[in-house]
Amino acid sequence: MAKQEDLFKNVVSHAKEYGYIFPSSEIYDGLSAVYDYAQNGVELKKNIREYWWKSMVQMHENIVGLDASILMHPTTWKASGHVDAFNDPLIDNKDSKKRYRADVLIEDYAEKLNQKAEKEIEKASVRFGEAFNRAEYETTNPRVMEYLSKKNSILARMGKSLGDGDLADVKALIEELEIADPETGSKNWTEVKQFNLMFGTKLGASADTAMDLYLRPETAQGIFVNFLNVQKSGRMKIPFGIAQTGKAFRNEIVARQFIFRMREFEQMEMQFFVKPGEEMKWYEYWKTTRLNWHLSLGLGEKNYRFHDHDKLAHYANAAADIEFNFPFGFKELEGIHSRTDFDLKAHEEFSNKKLQYFDTEENKNYTPYVVETSVGLDRMFLSVFATSLKEEELEDGSTRTVLKLPSVLAPTKAAILPLVKKDGLPDIAKQIMADLKWDFNVAYDEKDAVGRRYRRQDALGTPFCITVDHQSIEDQTVTIRHRDTMKQDRVAITDLREIIESEVSMKNWLMKIGK
Ligand code: ATP
Repeated sequence: MAKQEDLFKNVVSHAKEYGYIFPSSEIYDGLSAVYDYAQNGVELKKNIREYWWKSMVQMHENIVGLDASILMHPTTWKASGHVDAFNDPLIDNKDSKKRYRADVLIEDYAEKLNQKAEKEIEKASVRFGEAFNRAEYETTNPRVMEYLSKKNSILARMGKSLGDGDLADVKALIEELEIADPETGSKNWTEVKQFNLMFGTKLGASADTAMDLYLRPETAQGIFVNFLNVQKSGRMKIPFGIAQTGKAFRNEIVARQFIFRMREFEQMEMQFFVKPGEEMKWYEYWKTTRLNWHLSLGLGEKNYRFHDHDKLAHYANAAADIEFNFPFGFKELEGIHSRTDFDLKAHEEFSNKKLQYFDTEENKNYTPYVVETSVGLDRMFLSVFATSLKEEELEDGSTRTVLKLPSVLAPTKAAILPLVKKDGLPDIAKQIMADLKWDFNVAYDEKDAVGRRYRRQDALGTPFCITVDHQSIEDQTVTIRHRDTMKQDRVAITDLREIIESEVSMKNWLMKIGK
């Protein structure tokens, strides 16, 4: 555990030291759970957004984009159910005065049972080798069965209590399981209360005419209210999707995990409108497609898993999370929800406007069903950044810190380094930079010994270093050093563009999806 915590601390400090993420308004001691993306962070974030956008919008002829506003008519949030039901159950510890999400305390307890079962399964898989049958072991080994059935019954009971609004039972469950404050060990808890997560604001100057608004807690509603506008103006035929990325705001109860849980964050969402009755087929399709998108980044298949929801949100008839193995364990990265016709029907009712689709093949009107994919951009950032950060021991016994970002996402694709600051080498380096910057984000660095410059670029995650030396003057060649292998090749300056392109091109990376 201590090791995991150290790893996470390393991630946070590396992000600051190398210009990826700063605490917001740091000179005033920061603002809790709010962060700024720095010069390299903003590039990485933009590249993740583009990687998503290209695969979702450009590669699907039946998906189009949208950029709806953050502020919306307040009735939107009444209709969507957020005013009444966008709550988290909170609980305070009377001794430590710390506040927690009651459902998260229970989920963490259940996860520990899961980990115990996993440990047993892993031991058995080593023991039995190739002959090991996981499914059979899970359903026959008494210890594993006990862990898993306890986990399942805890989550099912919590799901039911939360669904019924029975907060007393949520507290009873915490007491029965003897869950203690993770920081102090105290079991002296208050009652469980509901807490609405929406941020309020006002529109208008005068106090009596001002209108109460909310900062949107999800981007999805901007898509629903525009459903018919997009369908008609784009002559879209069902099934079709609308995608958007943008800020969302939630007054989170507990926000202690860096950019994992922020009060202001960014979502990348796509709502896919389908014929009623076909939603389960599309739900399965998007679960697979989205997992493959994540896998294409090469962060390791073992780091992802599906988690089916035990407590369905008020709008869903099926929901699963893609969870990622963050430095603090498996947690939600993306949600895939079958939202039924809940949202469109609710907006019809509250606005008195028809939001139906006329199906020319069936010659009838209906309200489409919706399958949503919703991934947090900041959580994507954290998954990529934390997994890429490595301390490596080298053959000569020294160590290096290297940020092995998927090269398609790396902020800077190549650094151009003149070996020395004289003999015309900087001029050649600057000319290479001038040629490459049309196609790639590249950097120039002439400070310090070249070995130190390599280390700095490793820590920044730059996939290539191009070094200009005296031989370059004679034969127009340079060395190109690969970040991950540290291998150096002598290549012609005229080949650089193609070498870099083949490694960082979005096309090559996206083509891995589904393979
Ligand atoms: P959690 O259970 O972790 O609070 P959620 O189920 O409320 O998340 P959704 O409403 O499904 O999350 O939102 C979709 C995605 O938006 C999530 O999968 C996550 O990646 C991202 N997200 C949600 N809340 C936050 C937050 N406070 N900070 C950063 N990202 C967030």
